[in-house]
Amino acid sequence: MDLAGKTCLVTGATKGIGRAIAEALAGAGADVVISARTSSDVEQVATDLDYAFLGRVVGITADVSRPEDCSRLVQETADAFGHIDVLVNNAGVGILASIEELSVEDWETQIHTNLRGVFCCSKAAVPHLKSTEGWIINIGSLAGRNPFAGGSGYNASKFGLIGMTEAMMLDLRHSGIRVSMVMPGSVDTRFGGDYPEGGRAWALGAGDVASAVLHILSYPDNAHVSRVEMRPSRPPKK
Ligand code: NAP
Repeated sequence: MDLAGKTCLVTGATKGIGRAIAEALAGAGADVVISARTSSDVEQVATDLDYAFLGRVVGITADVSRPEDCSRLVQETADAFGHIDVLVNNAGVGILASIEELSVEDWETQIHTNLRGVFCCSKAAVPHLKSTEGWIINIGSLAGRNPFAGGSGYNASKFGLIGMTEAMMLDLRHSGIRVSMVMPGSVDTRFGGDYPEGGRAWALGAGDVASAVLHILSYPDNAHVSRVEMRPSRPPKK
């Protein structure tokens, strides 16, 4: 896909992986809508990226755990640029605690953000993506394949996301919409507030995940990379 003149919407794009994806898309000449819940961050990051990169960058504040925000976000994106070519469902939260400690509210927050938010943004975007034969790229996780203690909410959301993404792919392939998933292992961001002293130099960088997104988008119409799994080459030995 030649990204010049394309419109890409990235959720959760003020920090970490989402921000790196937005930078990579804008750097490749796409017009980008960045979104997150904290309006001051959205305004600042949109201004910074719009100034720094070739593509135009606009910020829209939205909470993807709220279905009405998902519809508004997609509509405002279409209104801003006239069409939508790529939706990157990246926004996600991780609240890690044993089932004995994890509240029902925290379990629901993860499901509503990481799973229902992807459904609602994608559902709203489908009519727009049909007319551009566009792309949905969901940022999953290796936690969608490998359960761990403390992950009863997070694992559930990311395991569910794999099934939902593949079902969406089968629903939409004959409409010309390609649905793909990137599943990273540990990435050096502040996700879940988890940021040990000295960082996590051994982990993937957010830019590595952004490179996978650009790689997926580089394939011609007849080819569809539906899933990319990626992990640090040399994680610390347990
Ligand atoms: P991050 O650094 O914590 O950034 C999360 C971004 O999402 C922020 O911009 C945040 O801004 C936004 N966000 C959070 N909840 C939101 C909501 N309800 N609605 C809209 N935006 C929301 O996280 P990250 O590490 O980049 O993670 C991004 C994605 O990658 C997530 O889906 C995560 O599950 C996945 N992932 C991460 C790792 C990792 O090790 N970091 C590994 C595998 C997969 P606001 O707080 O202002 O909304």
